[in-house]
Amino acid sequence: MRTSQMFIPTLREDPGEAEIISHRLMLRAGMIRKLAAGMYTYLPLGLRVLRKIENIIREELNKAGAQELLMPILAPAELWKETDRWNQYGKELFRCQDRHERDFCLGPTHEEVITDLFRREVRSYRQLPVILYQIQTKFRDEIRPRFGLMRGREFIMKDAYSFDKNEADALVSYQKMYDAYDRIFKKTGLQFRAVEADTGLIGGTSSHEFMVLANTGEELIVYDPEESYAANVERAEVSPPKELSKEPLKPLEKVKTPGAKTVEQVCALLHTSPHSLVKTLLYKTEGQEVIAVLIRGDHQANEIKIKRSLGLHELTLAEPDMVQALTAAPVGFSGPIGLQKVKILADHAVHALHNFIVGGNEADTHFINVNCERDFQIDLVADLRQAQEGDASPMSGGPLQTARGIEVGHVFMLGEKYSKKMEATYLDSNGQEHWAVMGCYGIGVGRAAAAAIEQNHDEKGIMWPIPIAPFHVHLLPVTPSVEVGTVVESLYTELDKLGIEVLLDDRDERAGVKFNDADLIGAPFQVVVGDKGLAKNTIDIKARRTGEVVKLPPSEVTKWIIDKLADRKE
Ligand code: ATP
Ligand code: MG
Repeated sequence: MRTSQMFIPTLREDPGEAEIISHRLMLRAGMIRKLAAGMYTYLPLGLRVLRKIENIIREELNKAGAQELLMPILAPAELWKETDRWNQYGKELFRCQDRHERDFCLGPTHEEVITDLFRREVRSYRQLPVILYQIQTKFRDEIRPRFGLMRGREFIMKDAYSFDKNEADALVSYQKMYDAYDRIFKKTGLQFRAVEADTGLIGGTSSHEFMVLANTGEELIVYDPEESYAANVERAEVSPPKELSKEPLKPLEKVKTPGAKTVEQVCALLHTSPHSLVKTLLYKTEGQEVIAVLIRGDHQANEIKIKRSLGLHELTLAEPDMVQALTAAPVGFSGPIGLQKVKILADHAVHALHNFIVGGNEADTHFINVNCERDFQIDLVADLRQAQEGDASPMSGGPLQTARGIEVGHVFMLGEKYSKKMEATYLDSNGQEHWAVMGCYGIGVGRAAAAAIEQNHDEKGIMWPIPIAPFHVHLLPVTPSVEVGTVVESLYTELDKLGIEVLLDDRDERAGVKFNDADLIGAPFQVVVGDKGLAKNTIDIKARRTGEVVKLPPSEVTKWIIDKLADRKE
């Protein structure tokens, strides 16, 4: 392609709206433009990268025996009502109506649609297993769309679904997809890690997220530096403390703590550490019931674990007026002592504590020397907190470390969740009817492109890994002579014939402008042709990543590039 014929509106200045580097560079390199919050136009250069990622995905999924199809984006509400997700999905679901005022949604994911296809078309065990996938635009009305393609409201996803006869077979499909994901992300040149992820109400270990490691990642993972264990903090199990406190119980005491609402304020006032304090969090459940959750002051509550411990779908912190009505105190002074009609859940670490501090259910008041069972009753002791750095690893027992990650892919065992609700069955060899066992598998295509930039850039711009670079070679004539023009044209034709993707900067611009744009756009190799070099019969080839320059006679350039591309080494 020639720059003069390609729409690449690069920007010199940093766009103000972009908070993270990948977003800034995608805008500056002329890859994307924003239409509205979380909605982007993929410009020609950006689209080339997305297509490359999609093709790597296709290649590997096809190899794994999955088949591509394409479902409608628009789905009738009836299907979503069958699984109750029409209600559960809440505001993230984009809804609309047709001219007959029938409800529809724009698919945020396609379990309902594919399960409907399955139940209509698949009858026999002989047709199983089947793995189907599509690469398609998804819609989610995210609360906070941000970071460009990382978290859009309209974005491209590869979603796949497997159907099997039973759990054992389903695990085989799951493993196939897991392995395909491993190959896909390796091929794209990303540094990633598969981590155990939350399985929602299903439980079990059959959910993994593929995380690209990057400081700007929204996810926090814990990992065992000694073992292969890694998990999303949402998911990571925390073992109960090995022993309970042996401290003798002291008499309960009520103390005045004027204005001390936060853990820090209470600790400062009472000269103690967050370790000796217990937070009482009041939550509303879907049945409008209120529960109290006790978490040690230096720990974070994990709402997913809390939900799972009670089999709940919805959990929201109680509003201040509700807290006031329940505890007769403003937020910050809630405690379990004397709390009426509220189920009390305690994290293991709280249960192991003696003589701790809790809110007094009275403004500006706390209790000290509080003890479970003696001073209040607990309804359920469970693992309810987030794992954190230094917690014991479930594998080696050693301290866990933390890292930030970007979730680019997710493989998930669904079991019979959808097939039961939607009556998706097959007949076995004896004519017996069974529910199909399902798995689902997603990859964020745009997010993967953005994550690649987070990992591969410098202050001048992007440094694309070869497999997903929009072009392999950026050809830069830097002096406007006839000789340079002739050499450049013949190189361009030669490389193009060999299937090497070349962007020829044929603009009438200064060398400096061309170099800056080439560094910004980030093709792995820049081939610089100028009069000075040609006078010595050389052309400069710069590797974008290392900055190394080699000088070669024009006749050797093509072979050098072919060898480098074959090695996948810049
Ligand atoms: P997140 O926790 O980041 O919202 P999710 O758990 O909702 O992700 P899935 O439903 O598993 O995501 O979707 C599969 C994949 O689609 C994710 O792994 C991610 O790469 C991508 N994805 C999800 N939401 C978005 C979004 N809003 N913008 C871009 N990509 C997304
Ligand atoms: Mg999400």
